[in-house]
Formats: sequence, structure tokens, C-alpha cells
Amino acid sequence: MENNSLWAKYLNNKKNDEIDEYSNVDVLIIGGGLCGISTAFELKDSNLNVCLIESNKIGSGTTSLTTGKITYLQDKIYSDLISIRGFDTAKKYLESQLFASKLIKNNIDKYKIECDYIKNDSYIFSLDEKDKTKIDKEYDFFMKTNINAEIVDNLPINFPCKYALKVSDTAVFNPIKYINSLVDIMKNKVKIYEGIRALEVKKDNNLYVVKTTKNIIKAKYVVVCTHYPFFIVPGLIPFKTHIEKSHVLAAKVNNIEKFNAISIGKEIYSIRYHKDKDSYLLFASESYKMSNHIDYKKRQEELRLKFKKYFNSDILYEWSIHDLTSNDLLPLIGKIDNNNLLVATAFNKWGMTNSVLSSKILSDIILGNENEYIDLFKLNRKITIKSTVNFLTDSINISKIYIGTKLNKNKSFYNDTVKFVTINGKSYGIYKDKNGKKHKIRNLCPHMKCSLIFNFMDKTWDCPCHGSKFDVDGNVIKGPSVYNIKIDD
Ligand SMILES: Cc1cc2nc3c(=O)[nH]c(=O)nc-3n(C[C@H](O)[C@H](O)[C@H](O)COP(=O)(O)OP(=O)(O)OC[C@H]3O[C@@H](n4cnc5c(N)ncnc54)[C@H](O)[C@@H]3O)c2cc1C
Repeated sequence: MENNSLWAKYLNNKKNDEIDEYSNVDVLIIGGGLCGISTAFELKDSNLNVCLIESNKIGSGTTSLTTGKITYLQDKIYSDLISIRGFDTAKKYLESQLFASKLIKNNIDKYKIECDYIKNDSYIFSLDEKDKTKIDKEYDFFMKTNINAEIVDNLPINFPCKYALKVSDTAVFNPIKYINSLVDIMKNKVKIYEGIRALEVKKDNNLYVVKTTKNIIKAKYVVVCTHYPFFIVPGLIPFKTHIEKSHVLAAKVNNIEKFNAISIGKEIYSIRYHKDKDSYLLFASESYKMSNHIDYKKRQEELRLKFKKYFNSDILYEWSIHDLTSNDLLPLIGKIDNNNLLVATAFNKWGMTNSVLSSKILSDIILGNENEYIDLFKLNRKITIKSTVNFLTDSINISKIYIGTKLNKNKSFYNDTVKFVTINGKSYGIYKDKNGKKHKIRNLCPHMKCSLIFNFMDKTWDCPCHGSKFDVDGNVIKGPSVYNIKIDD
């Protein structure tokens, strides 16, 4: 079994071009996931000089870990949005998701993109009678918005289900094959660099100056598509979002079923099928706020047990993934400042449609085009009572997590391969590898100084507050931290 996602084998080893020590561009896009690549793609035919930098391999972030459903049926988001921001906002959000789904399909048709796109039905379902009213509310919303939806009492497979809502015109695909094709199509129009990490963004008159691990790039527009923005914007990021982690596995099956589904209620189960030359079932569950559980290996074992209970197939891939959610459930897309620093984040686990939607909004802002969704997702949108309550709850949770990491109350969880020591008042983590070699790190995330936890599944040090990931020697693997852990910080 591979401790990797089903999509990882499609990540390309793109040969890195040499980048100039100083470069000047019109638009610098930071981050080469679905969001960044789609934004570059939208700008490819403009007269602008566009450059994209990716700290790792193109697509290797959250996009390579997703379940890859392209659907507007997203848990019970519409009734939640109605309660936070009203019916009109929920309706506009629905339209934006339909628009983005169409954009993906149009690209696939226009450029004949091979990405295992399969049209199928989407379901939300409940395992418990008492969640019936939640599903009914989504159904009522679809009736009012003229969406064909149907209440049913089972799924197309043998899986516990008391009550479900089904819609059509949704799809699944292989997101990495999709973005690889976009990269190929725009290869002579947009400069794309891998292995370059943006470290800081500063304003210098009308330009932004971006310091990276390889060079300095000056740009009129900077678009931050790094999943979790790597800088702190007081009052906004990370304060308007929280992160949730889930575990996923993929097993080989004989046939695919043309549907995808996600449960609502206490336990989340996400199911989809995938077909390339073989057929697979993807199964995700065990969702939690990252700070609430630290034994990721155990969560993955729980997932395997759940899978074995319902299915009889060999598990070939397993992985975990986290995503950001904003306190009013709407992604944050648009200008960070009053100038030309743009961002797209907090896709609430629905980043296939929302990345592509972001690409259109952000490119329209840059090109000066009108876009009917700019106001809906702008960062300084009006605060509502409910979003304020969520904001306060998130802030309290984040503070609790921060303090919790300092108290290090989870010490008993670690076995003798991981130890914590305090030297001159500073906490250090020591990991002993299978050869007995000890790796010592300062137990402090460079991003916002949370203390770290050891992830036995990936053999990494992870930040439970904001999701940064470091190897056993403290080298950063995933942001928002852009810096390695300094031993003497
Ligand atoms: C369990 C789970 C299942 C999901 N399933 C679905 C689904 O079925 N459908 C759906 O619509 N959404 C789904 N999502 C959400 C979706 O996968 C994500 O929202 C989406 O992939 C985010 O794409 P992105 O381009 O914003 O981020 P990423 O793919 O993470 O891209 C960001 C890139 O920026 C790079 N980067 C970071 N920092 C820097 C830096 N400083 N300099 C340069 N580069 C940098 C990273 O290396 C990375 O490649 C799911 C999420 C979860 C948690």
C-alpha cells in the first residue's frame, strides 16, 4: 500500500528553467495548484507578461490530495449560507458553482483534455433519521432555484443510508491530469517555475517586490494561490479561517458506479469512483479540526476499519489532507489591499469549482473586466451576526490550540522514538529514526510560533494551528511557513 494519493503518480517532473536573478513581470502568480494554474490559464491570451512560481512540483499541494468531485451539491452549504447571509447569497453561490463547473467542462471540450472526466450524479445522504430535515432544507432550496433534485432513500451501492438528496449534471475527474494539460497548452505563453518559494511580498511605489528562494521578482500584480496564504494579514488571515483534516483511501474495484456522495451529520463519509485504465473507489472519512486529534496513524487505521466494514477490496493508496474554511463559508477571493495584491483561499473543501471560479474572478480584476461574483467573495464583505459568532468561536479555538500546543499536554501519546526536552527554557523535539539517528528541532513553527506535533504517518513535524509541515530536520515541506525551523530560535 502506498502512503500517497491516487493522483500523485501523475505529478510531472517538469524540468526547471533558469530564472533571472532579478525579473520584472506584469503578473506574478504564487502557487501552482488548481487555483494558480487556472488563473495563469485565464491570463494566457492577454498581453500581460505572466509568471507563476511553485515551491514544489506543479499540483503537488492540496490539489494532488483532493477527492476531485466537481459538484454544486456541497454538504448542506445552501441552508447554512441562508442562515448566515440570506437566500440571495446562497442562490448566487449556487450560480457561481454551476458557472465554474461549466468552465471546467468547456476547457475539457475545447482543448480535448484527457483527464478521466466522467459525468455522474451527486448525493448528500444521512445515516441517521434525525438529519432528514437538514436534507429537506437543501431540497427546498433547489426547488426554489429550479434545480432538478430528487429525494431518495438509498445510494446506488450498498452503504448505510436513511435518506438522500440526488442531483445530476455533476462530475468527477483527475485534477492532476487536468492541470498538466493546462500547463502544456500555455507553455509558450506563461513562464512557470517549480522549486521556487516566495518568502515575502513588499510594496515599492506601484510595484510589488517579491523575495523568493532563488531571486527577486517585481510585479504590478501579485496573485497568492498558495492554499494557505504565507503572510499574516491582521484581522483577516489566519483569523477568518479554520482548518479541518480528513483521511482518504483508494482501493481497486472491478467496476465504477457513476455517482459521488457525501454524508452529512456526525460522521462524514465521502465516496466517489474513478476510472483510468483501472477502476478505483475513493473513500474519505475521519474529519476533524487538526488540533483535536494528533494520532493521525490511528485515524487512518479507523478509516481502514470503516472501509473494510462496508467494502471488500484491497486498499492501494492512503493519505490525509486538510483544507481551510472561512467563518461565513464563502471562499475569500479578491484584493487583499486597495491595490493589486490578490488572493484566493478558504474553499471549504470545495476547491475544484472554487479554484476555477477564483481564476475567473482574479483574472477579470486584473484585466479590468466586470465579473458578477467579485462582490460576493471580496475579502472585506459585510460582517453578519452569525459570521461574527463563527469568527469569535474560531478565534477562541485558535487561541486554545495555540495555548494547548505550548502546554504540550499530549506528551503521553509519544513513544520512545519521539522525545521533548527543555533546554534553557526552550522546548526541542527529538526524533530517533529507524537507524537510531537522532534528529533535533526547535519545537516552534516559524509562521506564528505554535508548538509542533509529530506526525507518525508521514514522519513529519506538523503545526496543528495552521497546517505547516516540516521534515525531521526542520526543513519546510508545506506552508504557510516559508522558513525552515531554526534550531536556535
Ligand atoms: C478531504 C478533502 C476532500 C476534498 N475533496 C474535494 C472535492 O471532491 N471537490 C472539491 O471541489 N474540492 C475538494 N477538496 C478541496 C480541494 O482539494 C482544495 O480546496 C483545492 O485543491 C485547493 O487548491 P489550491 O490550488 O488552492 O491549493 P494547492 O493545491 O495546495 O496549491 C497551492 C500551491 O502553492 C504552493 N505554495 C505554497 N506556498 C508557496 C510559496 N510560499 N511559494 C510558492 N509556492 C507556494 C504549494 O506547494 C501548492 O502546490 C477537498 C478537501 C479535503 C480536505
